[in-house]
Amino acid sequence: MCSRNYAAGKPWNLCECGGPLLVRYDLERMRALWSRDSLASAPNSMWRYAPALPVSNQTSIVSLGEGMTPLLKAARTGARIGASRLLIKDEGLNPTGSFKARGLSCAVSMCVELGLGRIAIPSAGNAASALAAYAAAAGIEANIFMPRDVPQANFIECRAYGARVTLVDGLISDCGRIVGERKAKEGWFEISTLKEPYRIEGKKTMGYEVAEQLGWRLPDAILYPAGGGVGLIGMWKAFEEMEALGWIGPARPKMIAVQAEGCQPIVRAFEEGAEVSRFWDGASTVAAGLRVPKPLGDRLTLQAVRASGGTAIAISDEALIDAGIQLAEEEGIFAAPEGAACVAAVERLIAQAPA
Ligand SMILES: [Zn+2]
Repeated sequence: MCSRNYAAGKPWNLCECGGPLLVRYDLERMRALWSRDSLASAPNSMWRYAPALPVSNQTSIVSLGEGMTPLLKAARTGARIGASRLLIKDEGLNPTGSFKARGLSCAVSMCVELGLGRIAIPSAGNAASALAAYAAAAGIEANIFMPRDVPQANFIECRAYGARVTLVDGLISDCGRIVGERKAKEGWFEISTLKEPYRIEGKKTMGYEVAEQLGWRLPDAILYPAGGGVGLIGMWKAFEEMEALGWIGPARPKMIAVQAEGCQPIVRAFEEGAEVSRFWDGASTVAAGLRVPKPLGDRLTLQAVRASGGTAIAISDEALIDAGIQLAEEEGIFAAPEGAACVAAVERLIAQAPA
């Protein structure tokens, strides 16, 4: 936010100004040393893009096979809603069943590299499961704070991976506050969304993959279920890096942030023309991953959505559940409610578009 620089190779959380830190690379130099053709022999995981990830020592990498998820054709659903080519990036095939694996593979690898043995995270569920798995793989202590009504599967997974789990009466924002209050005394490194610079780096690999899987031509639009919004911010960052590397041109997809009606701070800010969101009071939705009343990455999400000519749209719980069932019946893809919200969103946006 203030353009201050911090040295690589040390643990950092937020900038002094309160803004998130973003990893910058010497893309000029990388352009000469790294070509997209070399990917043919790279690992079949998100670590195929390792030169554009912050881990400097290969032995630090903690990988469970995350990334390189398929782009599936959703032809029947596309035909029904009027999308000539609808593709679904199936992030459910990641370790622990969500895209959170990307961010936490990268963040836990950095903890190994930086010698951080105790980490803490607030989570609505999926990030907790992913952190617990990668921390187990790395032999690191994971301290997890989740709302008491978190999906039971996430709780069971975290316990199975040996994490220390605390259930909190409240929202993810309350969990975040507790981690913030206790971390100094406990000696935890906090890996809350965007409060460290590494998770976004893992998540940005979705952008590299979409480009590679489509033959280095980006789609017209990307609909993304925005809770914290980091995947959207990450993909936008990846496109910028890939252009600097000479891998893609200046064309960009419309970035469309999809939220739930019961918690839509980004949609409200977008419609109001605001640079940041306001806390969404009484946040409530079945899509637990979208229940983020005041995302720290709101400014960056809104910047990317606007710069791309995209939009922000909210879907009711009823509509996103219906869309999920319909997608499952038509395509054999039983998406999480968060992902299903994107199908409802694209249907509505096409229906509303001028003919
Ligand atoms: Zn700053």
